[in-house]
Amino acid sequence: MKRQLIRNGTVMTMNDEMQVIPNGYVLLEGDHIQEVGEWPSDGSKDALLRQVDCVIDAAGKAIIPGLVNGHTHLFQTFIRGVSDDLPLSQWLRQIIWPASLAMEEEDFYLAAMIGCIENLKSGATYIMDHHYVHTHSGNDHGVLRAMEESGIRGHMARGGVDLSYEPRLRESIEDIFNNTDKLLDHWQGAADGRIAIAMGPLNLYGCSEEFLKQAAKYSERNGLITHIHVAETKDQIDNTMERFGLRNLELVEAVGMLGRHTQVVHGIWLNDAELDLLQKHDATVIHCPVSNMYLASGVARVPEMLDRGINVALGTDGPGSNNCQDNLEVLKFTACLHKVDQLDSTLLPPMQVLEMATRNGAKAVGREQDLGSLEPGKKADIVIIELQKAHIAPIHRVSSAIVYNANGNDVDSVFVNGELVVHRGKCVLVDEEEIIRRAQARVDSLRRKLSAAFPVFGIVQ
Ligand SMILES: [Zn+2]
Repeated sequence: MKRQLIRNGTVMTMNDEMQVIPNGYVLLEGDHIQEVGEWPSDGSKDALLRQVDCVIDAAGKAIIPGLVNGHTHLFQTFIRGVSDDLPLSQWLRQIIWPASLAMEEEDFYLAAMIGCIENLKSGATYIMDHHYVHTHSGNDHGVLRAMEESGIRGHMARGGVDLSYEPRLRESIEDIFNNTDKLLDHWQGAADGRIAIAMGPLNLYGCSEEFLKQAAKYSERNGLITHIHVAETKDQIDNTMERFGLRNLELVEAVGMLGRHTQVVHGIWLNDAELDLLQKHDATVIHCPVSNMYLASGVARVPEMLDRGINVALGTDGPGSNNCQDNLEVLKFTACLHKVDQLDSTLLPPMQVLEMATRNGAKAVGREQDLGSLEPGKKADIVIIELQKAHIAPIHRVSSAIVYNANGNDVDSVFVNGELVVHRGKCVLVDEEEIIRRAQARVDSLRRKLSAAFPVFGIVQ
């Protein structure tokens, strides 16, 4: 079994004691972590240097657990930056839907590949991709193939709507479950266990009560996570109040969907009673601060949720509303957004923000036993961040440097499942330049195709 040693760096274990080890090391054996500790100065570990297959010198760097990106839509890398400055409903109608419908099977593979590359290179070893464009049978496979080939770990939450959405993106309940059955057969546990499938009803306003009820049962029957956009905008509250006399999260509970394996994406417009429901059912909230600011959706009650012990993990959201997938940038936005929102600079200190992106993310995907911290026996999903740069150094506290100074460009190396997938800032398993070149050519052609009906796709300035 391959043994690899990372040494000389500051290890942010994110274990129960939140231990930080200066001059630390992490010994990998196969796909898991064998040892974590301080490198002894008495030479008692020096023999290890000759016994392992590979030594990575992390001097001047931080060694952290891989970040969990709890919510994205990878295909949107093809759509980012088409037009900014729109509210959610207009942005969907004028940008996301037309582009989604024009994309072909190969586009979903290329778009997702760009997204996986960017996620890995900005420190995410785990992504939850909420994929809801099923216009061609191969779209899902293209996204999952990109996840497999890039080396990232993650879920595809198989999205779907049956009631109220762009008609060509709607499906029958039967088709949604048949297709999810097929995805489970093909992909559940694929790529050495790196890939998994979740159930992902897109949102409450687009889905019928019957579909939501059946989706909850389907998840329970198959032991799946349920991932759904909830209370992203104020309008969405009006929608469920008018249809059912219930607020968003009350509806999620009423259809039997709220539980320990439920991921409530956004959860912005929740009242006290709904926070009680989150607590009661031990559900997770996936907080996407950049998207919430970009679309002016609102500010989730994250500090209160954390005080109540609710599990809050972080996500970038799709590249259409971020517009990047920089997972380190999300850390800074998370801390800053809530400080200014509450006019309280003591909120969300760096270690707590890191905890949200690692341990809470692992809990969100039901993997707290083997992911989310650097400890013996856990999976070797590890990120090494360069700190000796003019925008970061000199260092006082590594946690602060990671949250407030570092960005995705500072990620030096990434291991997933014990495999080195990013080395010195470059993806190891895929040819980035080739993927970007092919993606740009496809996007140029999409722009030509779309610009007649949607002039925004012809604008360059
Ligand atoms: Zn989303």
